[in-house]
Amino acid sequence: MIREGDKVPQPIRVLIAKPGLDGHDRGALVVAQGLRDEGMEVIYTGLRQTPEQIVATAIQEDVACIGLSSLSGAHLALFPEVVRLLRDQHAEDILVIGGGVVPQEDITLLKEAGVAEVFTPGSTIHQMAEYIREHIRLTGVDDWPDIAAVTQHVDHIGVAVKSIEEALPFYTGVLGLQVVHREEIADQGVRAAFVPVGDVDIELLEPTRADSPIAKFIDTHGPGVHHIAYAVDDVAVALKAAAAAGCRLIDEKPRPGGQGKLIGFVHPKSTYGALTEFCQRTGTAIDVEGGEL
Ligand code: ZN
Repeated sequence: MIREGDKVPQPIRVLIAKPGLDGHDRGALVVAQGLRDEGMEVIYTGLRQTPEQIVATAIQEDVACIGLSSLSGAHLALFPEVVRLLRDQHAEDILVIGGGVVPQEDITLLKEAGVAEVFTPGSTIHQMAEYIREHIRLTGVDDWPDIAAVTQHVDHIGVAVKSIEEALPFYTGVLGLQVVHREEIADQGVRAAFVPVGDVDIELLEPTRADSPIAKFIDTHGPGVHHIAYAVDDVAVALKAAAAAGCRLIDEKPRPGGQGKLIGFVHPKSTYGALTEFCQRTGTAIDVEGGEL
């Protein structure tokens, strides 16, 4: 489990700033609240901030991102000035995004000046939050969280198939492997067959209903490799390590995963495209809805 002194994952810190003279901050306040609802820690500077004040606050508050809001039309001068001052202070790792009524030709100019993205009316706060999560720089290697998973080996590779019975002859007939275990996990809407290859299982996953995660995966990507599961000493520690490094978790806590395992997933957007499972064999059977077939 978590050892004393282990770092607790920190929420992403964002500074919402309103440079320039425009006196309306309803939009900025809505964005600030929306990002808080997305789990971020948001600091709002208040109205009429100079780029110097904004950059000083951002560095002092150690934020990962600055969101600049503008309705005044002064964004072309003020946003690039914030980027320039950050560079001066060697704080260019702070992501700068903008929002407001900004014409397309200005967006091009702002991006050339180092503003990462500009969100115009019509984009949602959720899109903005997703963008921030994907684009903030992970903690520098020097201050990489002092917690890491103890990873032993690949436990299994999940493969999404439309039908286990249809896919099995390839594994048994062509590869000469055998099915050792089958089960249905009712709450996940999936049925699984385990085909060991040495220490690693191929976990064939077939959806049992149209709205299950595996069914949705097949709808979007077609059948194929779905996830890689790493055997770790402690799933809770592995999830904490991923969270501390800024990864987006699908499971905040370990949950029973069948075959007496504890599992937890990390979102593929944080793992360079490969849905990642941590998996811990507990030795004792864990009650899983559905049970064996
Ligand atoms: Zn799995």
